[in-house]
Formats: sequence, C-alpha cells, structure tokens
Amino acid sequence: SHTILYGVFGDPIRHSRSPIMLNRAFREAGMNAAYAAFHVSPQALGDAVRGIRALGYRGINVTIPHKVEVMQYLDEIDEGAQVIGAVNTIVNENGRLIGYNTDGIGYVRSLKEETGIELQGKAVLLLGAGGAARGVAYALAKEGAACIYIANRTKERAVELAQTIQAYTQAVGLGLDEVEQAAGAVSLIVNTTSAGMHPHVDELPMPVDLLSDKHLVSDLIYNPRITRFLREAEARGARIHGGLGMFIYQGAYAFEYWTGTPAPVAAMRQVVEQSLAE
Ligand code: NDP
Repeated sequence: SHTILYGVFGDPIRHSRSPIMLNRAFREAGMNAAYAAFHVSPQALGDAVRGIRALGYRGINVTIPHKVEVMQYLDEIDEGAQVIGAVNTIVNENGRLIGYNTDGIGYVRSLKEETGIELQGKAVLLLGAGGAARGVAYALAKEGAACIYIANRTKERAVELAQTIQAYTQAVGLGLDEVEQAAGAVSLIVNTTSAGMHPHVDELPMPVDLLSDKHLVSDLIYNPRITRFLREAEARGARIHGGLGMFIYQGAYAFEYWTGTPAPVAAMRQVVEQSLAE
C-alpha cells in the first residue's frame, strides 16, 4: 500500500516537535505514513493549501501565524473551530478540506487526565485572550465550567472573548488589574498568555500573592516545562499543571481525526519529552 502523507504548515517551523511526535505515532500504530514540516510564508499560504488537494495529502496541521488566515481557503469549518475563529488541523476528505481546532479540546483532555479535575460547575480564571485562550475558553465552557473570568492586559479583548463564550456559559471580561476578586472566587487558574515563555522566563501573568493552596494553577507554556508562574504557585501550596500535555493531546486529536484510530499517547509523550531534553 502507498504511503499516506501528512504535514504541518508554519512560519517559523524549524523548532516544531510535531514531525517527531506524529511520525512516532504512525510508527507505533503500524501505519505506512510520513509527516513533514513545511515552511510556508503568509503570501504562500493559499498555494500551500491548494497543494494539499493537488498532492493528495490526507492531513495537515497549521501553526503560527496561519491559524486564522487558513480558514478562508477551506471547504468546511467545524463548529468549534468557527466559534474559536482558528483552525489547527485540516482533514482532506477526497479533495474536500475540513478545518478543526484541537488546541482547546487537547488542553482539556490533558488537564483532566493529568490532574483528575472535574470541570462541571467549576469557576475558572483564564489569563489572556489570544488565540490559545479562545480555544481553551470554548472547551472549558463545553465541559461545563459554570463561570469563566477572562482577564487580559488589553481588557477589550477579554470583554470581546467573554461575549463570544456567553453563548455557552457565564463569562466575564476583566483587565489584569481586576483579577483579585476573581482569584478569590475560583479553584482553577489558567495562564494562556505568553508571559513566562522563553525568552521572557521572568514575566508573570498575574500577581502571585493571590495564589494559595485552594488553587489548581495551570500554564499552557511548555518551554520552559515549568514556568516561574507555576513555581511561585507551588511555593504557595497550589497544585500545578504544565502545557506539554496540551501539545501532545492536540496532536493526538489530529491523529484520531485523520486515522479514526486512538492515538498512541504514551509513545508520543515519550518521544517529545526525549526531544525537549536534548
Ligand atoms: P497570542 O499572541 O494570540 O496571545 C498572547 C496573549 O498573551 C494575549 O492575551 C496577550 O495580551 C498576552 N500577553 C503577551 N505578553 C504578555 C505580558 N507580558 N503580560 C501579560 N499578558 C501578555 O498567543 P497564543 O494565544 O497563540 O499563545 C499564548 C501562549 O500559549 C504562548 O506562550 C504559547 O506558547 C502557548 N500555547 C501553548 C500550546 C500548547 O500546546 N501547550 C498551544 C498554543 C499556545 P494582549 O491581548 O494584551 O496583547
């Protein structure tokens, strides 16, 4: 049988761990498949998407900066991806390109499997209102979170995201200077900002003196594996959860959408952890 083709479009793309992770997954599942990284500039994105059809690629991941712009070139967009306003996974169904977003559901699956948390009825403080925040807020709402406080440096973006999420659960948009009351009202705090990401490793997304042992504190960042924010939270008695699982599970969902078979998550995690340690 012939090799089924997959890949990822991004700019930059050279540091992506997706090829290592997905090629390991296909091998573990005994599939004849190959996954390649493509450096696609913004002006080449339309041609690259038409190339998916022309070359018969089965599946493509889309990463920064193409998650929003790619939508205009697709034939169909899944409802969740439409609400989120971004696509990170394309499935080619006989030339028909369908866009999905697995970031938010990948995050929630990681959070649940790695912490055992029950989200139904929970109040959550979400820090940030960018692309990742949109997917996570939507997925948390779909999981039954009862109230989502969204706090962002640029308050207008938080208010706008809260308005979108209000179709699914109670949501409030705040400025970063308004987190104190929300922090006292929630048991889960999620950092979706890039504060703390390499090379800005000393930045904090909110005042850490508001954290305590009643919080589970989660950070989407996985470079570094444990951010300063998580270390400060742990020092104040909070439980912590890092972002590596989100990366693994967004890839696991893509694998499952493409192949219809459960992803070999343990093997995927092992190879990503090994590559980050190198
Ligand atoms: P965006 O650029 O879309 O959004 C960035 C967000 O961070 C905005 O809310 C922005 O606020 C805020 N922000 C940036 N710098 C600061 C700062 N110094 N202080 C406070 N807030 C700040 O990025 P994404 O949403 O795509 O990604 C955000 C983070 O999530 C990144 O660190 C990324 O690595 C991580 N991520 C992890 C994934 C995983 O698989 N684990 C997947 C996707 C993302 P403002 O609106 O005011 O500019």
